[in-house]
Amino acid sequence: MVNKKIAMVGTPCQILAASKIDYYEKETGGSPIDLKIGLFCMENFSYTYLKMFLKEKNIDLKDVNEFRIENNKFKVFLNNSIQEFSISQTNSFKRKNCDICTDYTSNLADISVGSVGSPKGYSTVIVRSKKGNKIIQELISNGNVSKKDLKEKALDLLIRISNKKINNNLENIKNRENNSHPVIYKRKVSDDEIAQLSNECQFDCLNGDVIKEGACVLCGACEFVCPIDIIQINERKPVKKGDCKEDCHACYYACPRTFATDKILPKYLDNEPIGEYLEIYSLKSNKNIGQDGGIVSEILLYLLDKDLVDGVSIVSEDDTNPWKPISKLTSSRDEVLKAKGTKYSTVPIGFKALK
Ligand SMILES: Cc1cc2nc3c(=O)[nH]c(=O)nc-3n(C[C@H](O)[C@H](O)[C@H](O)COP(=O)(O)OP(=O)(O)OC[C@H]3O[C@@H](n4cnc5c(N)ncnc54)[C@H](O)[C@@H]3O)c2cc1C
Ligand code: SF4
Ligand code: SF4
Ligand code: SF4
Repeated sequence: MVNKKIAMVGTPCQILAASKIDYYEKETGGSPIDLKIGLFCMENFSYTYLKMFLKEKNIDLKDVNEFRIENNKFKVFLNNSIQEFSISQTNSFKRKNCDICTDYTSNLADISVGSVGSPKGYSTVIVRSKKGNKIIQELISNGNVSKKDLKEKALDLLIRISNKKINNNLENIKNRENNSHPVIYKRKVSDDEIAQLSNECQFDCLNGDVIKEGACVLCGACEFVCPIDIIQINERKPVKKGDCKEDCHACYYACPRTFATDKILPKYLDNEPIGEYLEIYSLKSNKNIGQDGGIVSEILLYLLDKDLVDGVSIVSEDDTNPWKPISKLTSSRDEVLKAKGTKYSTVPIGFKALK
């Protein structure tokens, strides 16, 4: 697969993992990811604990048509009713690693997509790279999507929400660091020091610095880059089965929660709530697909139709466990359409399938 071109969809932490894998290509072997579509993300949930919470409320996941977080409420859409919970109630199933994450709008993606700021049925789309811009301009000019300008008030709201995530989580990071629980991806460390420290590290350091610290985002990057396939990710965390290869540090370099060089993750981004961008719009797919404006699915279908990529990495739903996310690498339009909608639980992204 490494000679092929893949588009990936992911949360900001998964986009950072993809960026690190490619930046540290010499150490990790690189990836075939050619286009990164990032989602906005305030938090993510554990599937097991979400299921338990809903069971206590007499809600079976198979009866849920949609989940949505709106106006500080976690909303569960059933056939004939909507059950609403306050955001504080989600703390029992929220993943604790999300408390130290300061990227709300996938600052490192080519195109970022979310709902905040746009009217119902539209997506807020932040175009960051020239490559991303070309795709969005073509989708607009060929009539696949409808466009609205993002209102100033909507942009203010997006910036406010993003700033809230940054400020709250910088505070959490400070508290963790003060209590001797390192949050090393946020530390200011020079490239030379990163190389020196990372070259001393194998999986055991990853375990100590990230996994045992509750910082693992369960992205699957470590599993993907391991040259001898000794990392396995269960529902909760990566584990190592076997002895490491001599002089290999690939998993440590790839992980989005180990040292991040300023060249990938500039520290000034903490003062740029929605990152750097070329354009920002409210867009809607004219096919009426998707969680919000269906823009993610529309972009993926376009890339496949025009043969611009060989496959797309998506998060679909497990056939036997309702709302359980599973990663897939596919070139099928039907699979892309089936994957539409937000699964509010963590899943190792399809890095492994890229092998
Ligand atoms: C965990 C999570 C938290 C989010 N939080 C916010 C938020 O706080 N504010 C906000 O504005 N938007 C948030 N979003 C984004 C929002 O829910 C929509 O995904 C986004 O607006 C795109 O809508 P769409 O109609 O264009 O996508 P669609 O066309 O419906 O496509 C959705 C795509 O998302 C991918 N996907 C679904 N679930 C996951 C997952 N768990 N992990 C990775 N990829 C997945 C699928 O591969 C699919 O291709 C969140 C998304 C996720 C996954
Ligand atoms: S760490 Fe949590 S909040 Fe941050 S991008 Fe990943 S899932 Fe979203
Ligand atoms: S061999 Fe060891 S150090 Fe290298 S990627 Fe695999 S687990 Fe990590
Ligand atoms: S330990 Fe592995 S799965 Fe966890 S965040 Fe790091 S790379 Fe991702």
